[in-house]
Amino acid sequence: MPQRTPGNVKKNRRRRPGARLSCFALACALALASVAPVAPAQMPDARRAAEAAAERAAAGRDIDELVRRAMGVACAERELDPQGSAPIDEMQARPSLPLRHAEVVAGTQRAERLLPVAKILAAESLRRLLREYRVKESSAVRAAFARLSQVRWIKPDMELRDNASVLYKEPRTIRFGTIFLAGLRSDEGMLGVLSHELTHVADGAGGSLRALFRGVAQRAGSAAGLRITARRGEELTCDLVGALAVRAYIARTPGVETLARRTARALAHNCVERDHTDRAHLSPRTTMRALLALDPALARELTGDPAEPGTSRDPSTPATRRTQRRAAHPIAPRTPRR
Ligand SMILES: [Zn+2]
Repeated sequence: MPQRTPGNVKKNRRRRPGARLSCFALACALALASVAPVAPAQMPDARRAAEAAAERAAAGRDIDELVRRAMGVACAERELDPQGSAPIDEMQARPSLPLRHAEVVAGTQRAERLLPVAKILAAESLRRLLREYRVKESSAVRAAFARLSQVRWIKPDMELRDNASVLYKEPRTIRFGTIFLAGLRSDEGMLGVLSHELTHVADGAGGSLRALFRGVAQRAGSAAGLRITARRGEELTCDLVGALAVRAYIARTPGVETLARRTARALAHNCVERDHTDRAHLSPRTTMRALLALDPALARELTGDPAEPGTSRDPSTPATRRTQRRAAHPIAPRTPRR
Protein backbone atom coordinates (compact mmCIF):
# COMPACT_ATOMS: atom_id res chain seq x y z
CA MET A 1 0.00 0.00 0.00
CA PRO A 2 1.42 3.36 -0.88
CA GLN A 3 2.32 5.12 2.30
CA ARG A 4 0.30 8.17 3.08
CA THR A 5 2.50 10.88 4.28
CA PRO A 6 1.58 13.04 7.20
CA GLY A 7 1.99 15.93 4.77
CA ASN A 8 -1.12 14.77 2.92
CA VAL A 9 -3.06 14.63 6.12
CA LYS A 10 -2.11 18.16 6.96
CA LYS A 11 -3.00 19.34 3.50
CA ASN A 12 -6.52 17.93 3.80
CA ARG A 13 -7.03 19.56 7.13
CA ARG A 14 -6.00 22.94 5.80
CA ARG A 15 -8.64 23.20 3.11
CA ARG A 16 -10.26 26.59 3.06
CA PRO A 17 -13.57 26.96 4.84
CA GLY A 18 -16.45 26.05 2.63
CA ALA A 19 -14.49 23.58 0.51
CA ARG A 20 -16.13 20.20 0.48
CA LEU A 21 -14.16 17.54 2.22
CA SER A 22 -15.53 14.10 1.66
CA CYS A 23 -16.29 12.11 4.76
CA PHE A 24 -14.40 9.20 3.17
CA ALA A 25 -11.21 11.22 2.81
CA LEU A 26 -11.50 12.59 6.32
CA ALA A 27 -12.10 9.11 7.74
CA CYS A 28 -9.03 7.79 5.89
CA ALA A 29 -6.95 10.68 7.09
CA LEU A 30 -7.94 10.17 10.70
CA ALA A 31 -7.49 6.40 10.47
CA LEU A 32 -4.03 6.78 8.96
CA ALA A 33 -3.08 9.36 11.52
CA SER A 34 -3.96 6.94 14.27
CA VAL A 35 -1.84 4.02 12.95
CA ALA A 36 1.00 5.64 11.02
CA PRO A 37 4.23 6.28 12.91
CA VAL A 38 4.52 9.89 13.95
CA ALA A 39 6.97 11.65 11.68
CA PRO A 40 9.60 13.87 13.26
CA ALA A 41 7.97 16.92 11.69
CA GLN A 42 4.84 16.29 13.76
CA MET A 43 6.53 15.60 17.09
CA PRO A 44 6.33 18.16 19.80
CA ASP A 45 9.59 20.05 20.10
CA ALA A 46 10.34 18.72 23.57
CA ARG A 47 9.92 15.10 22.50
CA ARG A 48 12.03 15.64 19.38
CA ALA A 49 14.76 17.25 21.45
CA ALA A 50 14.64 14.41 23.99
CA GLU A 51 14.93 11.79 21.25
CA ALA A 52 17.80 13.65 19.59
CA ALA A 53 19.57 13.89 22.95
CA ALA A 54 19.05 10.16 23.56
CA GLU A 55 20.46 9.37 20.11
CA ARG A 56 23.49 11.57 20.74
CA ALA A 57 24.06 9.92 24.11
CA ALA A 58 23.83 6.45 22.55
CA ALA A 59 26.26 7.46 19.76
CA GLY A 60 28.60 8.89 22.40
CA ARG A 61 28.52 5.60 24.34
CA ASP A 62 29.26 3.71 21.12
CA ILE A 63 32.26 5.94 20.40
CA ASP A 64 33.50 5.62 24.00
CA GLU A 65 33.32 1.85 23.69
CA LEU A 66 35.08 1.90 20.30
CA VAL A 67 37.82 4.15 21.69
CA ARG A 68 38.27 1.91 24.74
CA ARG A 69 38.67 -1.18 22.55
CA ALA A 70 41.00 0.63 20.14
CA MET A 71 43.28 1.69 23.00
CA GLY A 72 43.37 -1.92 24.15
CA VAL A 73 44.33 -3.12 20.66
CA ALA A 74 47.00 -0.41 20.24
CA CYS A 75 48.71 -1.34 23.51
CA ALA A 76 48.35 -5.11 23.00
CA GLU A 77 49.89 -4.78 19.53
CA ARG A 78 52.73 -2.73 20.98
CA GLU A 79 53.63 -5.54 23.35
CA LEU A 80 53.64 -8.14 20.56
CA ASP A 81 55.39 -5.97 17.99
CA PRO A 82 59.19 -6.27 17.79
CA GLN A 83 59.15 -2.72 16.39
CA GLY A 84 56.70 -1.38 18.96
CA SER A 85 57.76 1.96 20.44
CA ALA A 86 58.80 2.11 24.06
CA PRO A 87 56.15 3.82 26.21
CA ILE A 88 57.07 7.34 27.31
CA ASP A 89 57.25 6.41 31.01
CA GLU A 90 59.70 3.59 30.25
CA MET A 91 61.84 5.98 28.21
CA GLN A 92 61.79 8.51 31.04
CA ALA A 93 63.17 5.92 33.44
CA ARG A 94 66.25 5.21 31.30
CA PRO A 95 69.58 6.98 31.44
CA SER A 96 70.35 9.10 28.39
CA LEU A 97 72.22 7.30 25.64
CA PRO A 98 75.48 8.55 24.13
CA LEU A 99 75.36 9.99 20.63
CA ARG A 100 77.37 7.11 19.22
CA HIS A 101 75.19 4.38 20.70
CA ALA A 102 74.17 2.00 17.90
CA GLU A 103 70.43 2.49 18.55
CA VAL A 104 70.85 6.27 18.50
CA VAL A 105 72.76 6.11 15.22
CA ALA A 106 70.09 3.83 13.74
CA GLY A 107 67.30 6.11 15.02
CA THR A 108 68.99 9.19 13.56
CA GLN A 109 69.35 7.48 10.21
CA ARG A 110 65.70 6.46 10.32
CA ALA A 111 64.64 10.04 11.07
CA GLU A 112 66.83 11.45 8.30
CA ARG A 113 65.52 8.90 5.80
CA LEU A 114 61.89 9.60 6.67
CA LEU A 115 62.09 13.40 6.97
CA PRO A 116 61.36 14.09 3.25
CA VAL A 117 58.35 11.75 3.35
CA ALA A 118 57.15 13.23 6.64
CA LYS A 119 57.25 16.72 5.13
CA ILE A 120 54.96 15.65 2.29
CA LEU A 121 52.52 13.73 4.47
CA ALA A 122 52.44 16.26 7.31
CA ALA A 123 51.70 19.04 4.80
CA GLU A 124 48.91 16.95 3.25
CA SER A 125 47.45 16.14 6.66
CA LEU A 126 47.60 19.78 7.72
CA ARG A 127 45.81 20.86 4.53
CA ARG A 128 43.12 18.29 5.18
CA LEU A 129 42.61 19.53 8.74
CA LEU A 130 42.55 23.18 7.68
CA ARG A 131 39.74 22.33 5.24
CA GLU A 132 37.90 20.18 7.76
CA TYR A 133 38.07 22.85 10.47
CA ARG A 134 37.27 25.62 7.97
CA VAL A 135 40.40 27.62 8.63
CA LYS A 136 40.78 30.15 5.84
CA GLU A 137 43.91 30.21 3.78
CA SER A 138 45.84 33.35 4.62
CA SER A 139 49.36 34.67 4.22
CA ALA A 140 50.10 33.29 7.70
CA VAL A 141 48.94 29.82 6.68
CA ARG A 142 50.97 29.98 3.47
CA ALA A 143 54.01 30.99 5.53
CA ALA A 144 53.38 27.96 7.75
CA PHE A 145 53.71 25.60 4.79
CA ALA A 146 56.81 27.43 3.60
CA ARG A 147 58.47 26.93 7.02
CA LEU A 148 57.52 23.27 7.07
CA SER A 149 59.06 22.70 3.64
CA GLN A 150 62.38 24.14 4.75
CA VAL A 151 63.16 21.70 7.56
CA ARG A 152 66.37 19.87 6.63
CA TRP A 153 68.18 18.54 9.66
CA ILE A 154 67.88 15.99 12.44
CA LYS A 155 70.05 16.66 15.46
CA PRO A 156 70.48 14.08 18.25
CA ASP A 157 70.71 15.70 21.65
CA MET A 158 71.47 13.79 24.86
CA GLU A 159 69.89 16.44 27.08
CA LEU A 160 66.49 16.12 25.42
CA ARG A 161 66.29 12.51 26.64
CA ASP A 162 62.78 11.21 25.70
CA ASN A 163 61.67 14.37 23.88
CA ALA A 164 61.93 15.96 20.48
CA SER A 165 61.80 19.70 19.94
CA VAL A 166 62.27 22.57 17.55
CA LEU A 167 63.72 25.98 18.33
CA TYR A 168 62.23 28.96 16.53
CA LYS A 169 65.72 30.38 16.06
CA GLU A 170 66.69 27.14 14.26
CA PRO A 171 63.54 26.31 12.29
CA ARG A 172 65.28 23.97 9.87
CA THR A 173 66.32 21.48 12.55
CA ILE A 174 64.38 18.90 14.55
CA ARG A 175 66.21 17.92 17.72
CA PHE A 176 65.74 14.49 19.19
CA GLY A 177 66.66 13.16 22.59
CA THR A 178 68.81 10.08 22.22
CA ILE A 179 66.42 7.96 24.29
CA PHE A 180 63.60 8.96 21.95
CA LEU A 181 65.64 8.10 18.86
CA ALA A 182 66.31 4.65 20.30
CA GLY A 183 62.75 4.15 21.57
CA LEU A 184 60.94 4.79 18.27
CA ARG A 185 61.66 1.49 16.58
CA SER A 186 59.39 1.64 13.54
CA ASP A 187 59.07 3.90 10.52
CA GLU A 188 55.46 4.56 11.48
CA GLY A 189 56.38 5.63 15.02
CA MET A 190 59.17 7.88 13.76
CA LEU A 191 57.01 9.37 11.02
CA GLY A 192 54.34 10.32 13.55
CA VAL A 193 56.84 12.16 15.76
CA LEU A 194 58.49 13.90 12.80
CA SER A 195 55.07 15.10 11.62
CA HIS A 196 54.30 16.33 15.14
CA GLU A 197 57.47 18.44 15.19
CA LEU A 198 56.91 19.67 11.63
CA THR A 199 53.52 21.01 12.75
CA HIS A 200 55.25 23.03 15.50
CA VAL A 201 57.65 24.38 12.88
CA ALA A 202 54.74 25.28 10.60
CA ASP A 203 53.01 27.14 13.41
CA GLY A 204 56.16 29.18 14.02
CA ALA A 205 56.76 31.87 16.60
CA GLY A 206 53.75 33.87 15.40
CA GLY A 207 51.17 31.13 15.91
CA SER A 208 50.08 30.76 12.27
CA LEU A 209 47.95 27.71 13.05
CA ARG A 210 46.30 29.08 16.20
CA ALA A 211 42.79 28.89 14.74
CA LEU A 212 43.26 25.22 13.87
CA PHE A 213 44.59 24.40 17.34
CA ARG A 214 41.56 26.09 18.89
CA GLY A 215 39.17 24.16 16.64
CA VAL A 216 40.79 20.81 17.41
CA ALA A 217 40.78 21.54 21.15
CA GLN A 218 37.08 22.40 21.07
CA ARG A 219 36.09 19.36 19.05
CA ALA A 220 38.23 17.00 21.09
CA GLY A 221 36.78 18.53 24.24
CA SER A 222 33.24 17.65 23.27
CA ALA A 223 34.15 14.31 21.63
CA ALA A 224 36.11 13.01 24.61
CA GLY A 225 34.43 14.96 27.42
CA LEU A 226 37.55 16.98 28.24
CA ARG A 227 38.45 20.59 28.88
CA ILE A 228 41.44 21.32 26.68
CA THR A 229 43.41 24.55 26.98
CA ALA A 230 44.79 26.29 23.89
CA ARG A 231 48.32 25.14 24.69
CA ARG A 232 47.29 21.53 25.02
CA GLY A 233 45.25 22.00 21.85
CA GLU A 234 48.47 22.73 20.00
CA GLU A 235 50.13 19.53 21.22
CA LEU A 236 47.01 17.52 20.46
CA THR A 237 46.82 18.95 16.92
CA CYS A 238 50.49 18.07 16.35
CA ASP A 239 49.67 14.51 17.45
CA LEU A 240 46.61 14.45 15.18
CA VAL A 241 48.71 15.53 12.19
CA GLY A 242 51.14 12.76 13.14
CA ALA A 243 48.39 10.13 13.26
CA LEU A 244 46.95 11.24 9.92
CA ALA A 245 50.39 11.22 8.34
CA VAL A 246 51.01 7.68 9.59
CA ARG A 247 47.66 6.50 8.19
CA ALA A 248 48.53 8.02 4.81
CA TYR A 249 51.98 6.42 4.94
CA ILE A 250 50.53 2.98 5.69
CA ALA A 251 48.07 3.33 2.81
CA ARG A 252 50.87 4.16 0.39
CA THR A 253 53.54 1.70 1.44
CA PRO A 254 52.72 -1.95 0.82
CA GLY A 255 53.49 -4.45 3.53
CA VAL A 256 52.56 -7.84 4.94
CA GLU A 257 51.91 -6.68 8.49
CA THR A 258 48.34 -6.13 9.64
CA LEU A 259 46.77 -2.71 9.46
CA ALA A 260 46.15 -2.85 13.22
CA ARG A 261 49.83 -3.43 13.97
CA ARG A 262 51.08 -0.65 11.75
CA THR A 263 48.39 1.77 12.92
CA ALA A 264 49.17 0.96 16.56
CA ARG A 265 52.70 2.29 16.02
CA ALA A 266 51.26 5.80 15.64
CA LEU A 267 50.03 5.67 19.24
CA ALA A 268 52.14 3.05 21.00
CA HIS A 269 54.45 5.44 22.88
CA ASN A 270 51.35 6.57 24.80
CA CYS A 271 50.78 3.09 26.30
CA VAL A 272 52.15 4.13 29.68
CA GLU A 273 51.65 2.71 33.15
CA ARG A 274 52.33 6.04 34.86
CA ASP A 275 49.96 8.41 33.10
CA HIS A 276 51.49 11.73 34.15
CA THR A 277 50.93 15.08 32.51
CA ASP A 278 52.18 18.65 32.43
CA ARG A 279 50.79 22.09 31.52
CA ALA A 280 51.44 21.73 27.79
CA HIS A 281 50.32 18.16 27.21
CA LEU A 282 47.38 15.96 27.98
CA SER A 283 48.60 12.81 29.68
CA PRO A 284 49.72 10.10 27.21
CA ARG A 285 46.64 7.93 27.69
CA THR A 286 44.30 10.94 27.54
CA THR A 287 46.06 12.01 24.34
CA MET A 288 45.41 8.58 22.85
CA ARG A 289 41.76 8.72 23.92
CA ALA A 290 41.30 12.22 22.49
CA LEU A 291 42.90 11.28 19.16
CA LEU A 292 40.71 8.20 18.75
CA ALA A 293 37.56 10.12 19.74
CA LEU A 294 38.45 12.86 17.25
CA ASP A 295 39.09 10.36 14.50
CA PRO A 296 36.94 7.23 14.96
CA ALA A 297 38.15 5.95 11.57
CA LEU A 298 41.60 5.60 13.18
CA ALA A 299 39.99 3.61 16.00
CA ARG A 300 38.23 1.32 13.51
CA GLU A 301 41.51 0.63 11.74
CA LEU A 302 42.75 -0.76 15.04
CA THR A 303 39.67 -2.75 15.99
CA GLY A 304 38.68 -3.89 12.51
CA ASP A 305 35.14 -2.54 12.94
CA PRO A 306 33.46 -1.70 9.63
CA ALA A 307 33.35 1.93 8.57
CA GLU A 308 30.34 3.95 9.72
CA PRO A 309 27.32 3.32 7.47
CA GLY A 310 26.89 6.16 5.07
CA THR A 311 30.43 7.41 5.46
CA SER A 312 33.17 6.78 2.99
CA ARG A 313 36.49 5.44 4.15
CA ASP A 314 39.37 7.84 4.30
CA PRO A 315 40.77 7.72 0.75
CA SER A 316 44.23 7.25 2.17
CA THR A 317 43.14 4.23 4.19
CA PRO A 318 43.63 0.68 2.97
CA ALA A 319 40.39 -1.12 2.23
CA THR A 320 41.38 -4.26 4.09
CA ARG A 321 43.02 -5.25 7.36
CA ARG A 322 46.13 -6.14 5.37
CA THR A 323 47.96 -3.19 3.96
CA GLN A 324 47.71 -2.68 0.25
CA ARG A 325 50.09 -4.42 -2.09
CA ARG A 326 50.04 -1.56 -4.49
CA ALA A 327 50.24 2.05 -3.43
CA ALA A 328 47.40 4.12 -4.85
CA HIS A 329 49.26 7.40 -4.40
CA PRO A 330 52.96 6.66 -4.22
CA ILE A 331 55.00 9.12 -2.23
CA ALA A 332 57.56 10.95 -4.29
CA PRO A 333 59.76 12.88 -1.92
CA ARG A 334 62.23 15.34 -3.27
CA THR A 335 65.77 14.64 -2.30
CA PRO A 336 66.60 17.07 0.49
CA ARG A 337 69.36 19.54 -0.11
CA ARG A 338 71.84 19.26 2.67
ZN1 LIG B 1 54.93 19.02 20.78
